[in-house]
Amino acid sequence: MVCPACQSPNVIPDVEIIDQAHLSEEALSVKVEAEPTAMIFRGRVNSELRARVCGNCGHTTLHAVDHKALWQAHLKAEGKTT
Ligand SMILES: [Zn+2]
Repeated sequence: MVCPACQSPNVIPDVEIIDQAHLSEEALSVKVEAEPTAMIFRGRVNSELRARVCGNCGHTTLHAVDHKALWQAHLKAEGKTT
């Protein structure tokens, strides 16, 4: 794995991203709702975000740990599953 910005091989592959918005350290995450228009039970799927950080130039990319579950929820929200 090399940095897409500077081609350095010094990439840290799996960095936890801290959210301190609530006075405690929690992992930054994303959510997708399978049924966003429902009053309750919106089929919310959460996934922690992880970062790849270049130790040479600082270029950072994000990826969702549970991306497959997010995608399935997205498909359901779009009405593309049975
Ligand atoms: Zn770099």
